[in-house]
Amino acid sequence: MKTIRTTPPRTVDVAAVFPELAPLARTATRLHPRPGTPTPYDSSVGGPLLWPADEPWPHCDVPHEGGGSLLDVVRLEQRARVRRAMTPDDPRAGDYTPEESAAVQQAVQRFDWDHDESELPVPLLPVAQLYARDVHLLRPPGRSEADLLQVLWCPFDHPPDQWMPRTALFWRTAADVTELLTAPPEPHVVESEEYVPVPCVLAPEQVTEYPSLPDLSKELQEQVKDWSRWEAAGARVDSGFAAYPESYYGSDLSVAPGWKFGGYSRWGYIDPSPRPCPACGTEMDPLLTIASTEGDSSQHSWIPYEDEPAATSDQSHVRDLVHRPTAIQIADLHAEQLYSCPRDPGHPHMELMQ
Ligand SMILES: [Zn+2]
Ligand SMILES: [Zn+2]
Repeated sequence: MKTIRTTPPRTVDVAAVFPELAPLARTATRLHPRPGTPTPYDSSVGGPLLWPADEPWPHCDVPHEGGGSLLDVVRLEQRARVRRAMTPDDPRAGDYTPEESAAVQQAVQRFDWDHDESELPVPLLPVAQLYARDVHLLRPPGRSEADLLQVLWCPFDHPPDQWMPRTALFWRTAADVTELLTAPPEPHVVESEEYVPVPCVLAPEQVTEYPSLPDLSKELQEQVKDWSRWEAAGARVDSGFAAYPESYYGSDLSVAPGWKFGGYSRWGYIDPSPRPCPACGTEMDPLLTIASTEGDSSQHSWIPYEDEPAATSDQSHVRDLVHRPTAIQIADLHAEQLYSCPRDPGHPHMELMQ
């Protein structure tokens, strides 16, 4: 059965209040990852990939500063946590089974911590797999036959320039993959458990976004900050926002929080900056947003109707299923947003912390 997630409609049609915004409307696909058991034939986060048996698995071959967590142990802990959240009435559901306890011990004993830095190159981990049938905007320019995007990453920081995992993108045609690689190589250690996504199924949903405030022209920014414009348009906005209506625009009307495909940048961690394609100079577009959370307390209006009960549960592990379903954490609850060239999907992509 296909899972559905429905973002409540925005309380204000912001393009009616500011007609200059209308041509800037852009569709984004919220992915709504939730823990599950995806197959290679499903769109997923952290799930198995539809990978051809005869294609080499990608690796990262730069030196890393040694890992902090064993992948096998991280996976066992994640499974126990999800079990606990899925069975809130059983406080012991998150305890390890005897088999899991034994597996943890074995993994720890087996691993030679003194030599972990010798593990090079590092096999990449699956982060996301998106089929065009689920994410309709997926088709890359000039490659109309490609209907599958696979995103992998190296689960380590890459100082001094990148304090987050480094990603690799693969576009392919699903029908071309007849024989699957069933047991891809995996790293033994990862930087931290925060770089290992919990396997999730997706419930893609299209929403409309508008540029975040810093991306608007100075003139339009001033208009959005002008409470009288909102009043004149009869917009139903809480008068508590009268002194700073741009906050309401930022939290509720412009950019959706959480994992998404396409749309706009939220900015915040870094200032807006040009993103020219390194190969052709064209300004790059947001492709995939890998988010630490599906929204903070100011973004409650984006919680899908279906998740409202879990989102307000008095049990934190149940709330986590909605707010932090993939358990990914980029720095201090930021997001890693990938950008790609709108002219050629073969041009190098880039990553920014948002
Ligand atoms: Zn790496
Ligand atoms: Zn380019």
